[in-house]
Amino acid sequence: MNARPSNDSARLNRTRDDALRERARRVIPGGMFGHMNVAALPANYPQFFEAAEGCRLRDADGRSVIDFMCAYGPMIVGYRHPQVDEAVARQASLGDLMTGPSARMVELAERLVALLPHADWALFQKNGTDATTLCVTIARAATGRRKVLVARNAYHGAAPWCTPYPGGVIAEDRAHLVHFDYNDLPSLQQALESVRGDAAAVIVSAFKHDFGRDQQLPSAEFAQGVRRLCDEQGAALVLDDVRAGFRLDLRGSWEPLGVRPDLSAWSKAIANGYPLAFVSGSDAYRQAATQVYATGSFWCGSVAMAAALATLDVLERHDAVAHMRQMGERLRAGLQAQALRHGVGIRQTGPAQMPQVLFDDDPSFERGMLFTEVALDYGVYLHPRHNMFLSLAHTPEDIDEALRATDIAMAAVAAGFGANT
Ligand code: PMP
Repeated sequence: MNARPSNDSARLNRTRDDALRERARRVIPGGMFGHMNVAALPANYPQFFEAAEGCRLRDADGRSVIDFMCAYGPMIVGYRHPQVDEAVARQASLGDLMTGPSARMVELAERLVALLPHADWALFQKNGTDATTLCVTIARAATGRRKVLVARNAYHGAAPWCTPYPGGVIAEDRAHLVHFDYNDLPSLQQALESVRGDAAAVIVSAFKHDFGRDQQLPSAEFAQGVRRLCDEQGAALVLDDVRAGFRLDLRGSWEPLGVRPDLSAWSKAIANGYPLAFVSGSDAYRQAATQVYATGSFWCGSVAMAAALATLDVLERHDAVAHMRQMGERLRAGLQAQALRHGVGIRQTGPAQMPQVLFDDDPSFERGMLFTEVALDYGVYLHPRHNMFLSLAHTPEDIDEALRATDIAMAAVAAGFGANT
């Protein structure tokens, strides 16, 4: 393995990325927006990429890294997967967005209804926020009620009703949100009691994956309790499977817990990076879903639907969930051994295929920042605060190569901050 280059601009060797940032600053507010803005990441993180294949990215300056973010989740079977991209090319040669949908929409809805035990129908959108917002709207239409129960610190999208950031949001946008704590049934019960008769929906993510915090899987008791309370109060149980969907269980993330939602929001991984989201729901909500005016100029594009059909084929054929879990467990075991060896306290939480690695005694993420900075220098793209993602394209060899880099990064944390175990 190469020695770490020195810590100056030559080390970053980021001519093209820097030039693009400079041009972007002039024509894009803040130079970059949203979750892909790297301003809060270590200084060596590139902002721009030029190519990707399998589980590897090539940045604008031609540097290749193993990617553990998978485009923040959408990539699931590998960048430029041949079978998905072949389906995309075939559909593109016929037509993408037309004056009406193609047969792909019906095929995909049929496929999803057959795959997801809770689903009797599906409606398509483009982004996760479209899907979560539509779930809430359908729940309100179905119940004639106003209140939406949301777990504190959970992320359900970037619309005014759910964004975690205050800019441009007015109190009225969120007037009917009521908060509870994830995995805390009494707090949900209390929240529901406080709005008795007016609860339209309880929206829950597949597991607790709040930014910068330890992740938490839902206990079966919590999930089953949410179902029971929703039934008692006549509120819709909305499962936000946008982030975890197709990584924990192809049938829906709460299926192993024996809990079926009324409505579910999906996006990210469904089409391996092609833009698509969908809402799935049960017959009880079909009438409301028919009545709500759901649409968008691009929602009926056929290419993303063809990509989704091919992605589902690949996921099923390769038992992708088991593969991602195994690769995640391999990474997790390797990191745990390294942390132990270097005397560095870390916490690895949540499902192995969506790892979150946080350091002990690290309230402002300085250890995490150093760890990810050094790992990137050695060719591994991690995140210091956000959960990461495995894919079908990550092989045991990729994980082992990544672990060689993280060993150096873990040593750097121990050297920089001292052992703390
Ligand atoms: N819900 C969850 C759980 C998410 O993780 C996200 C995106 N990170 C969204 C909703 C919103 O999806 P999008 O960014 O595609 O609008």
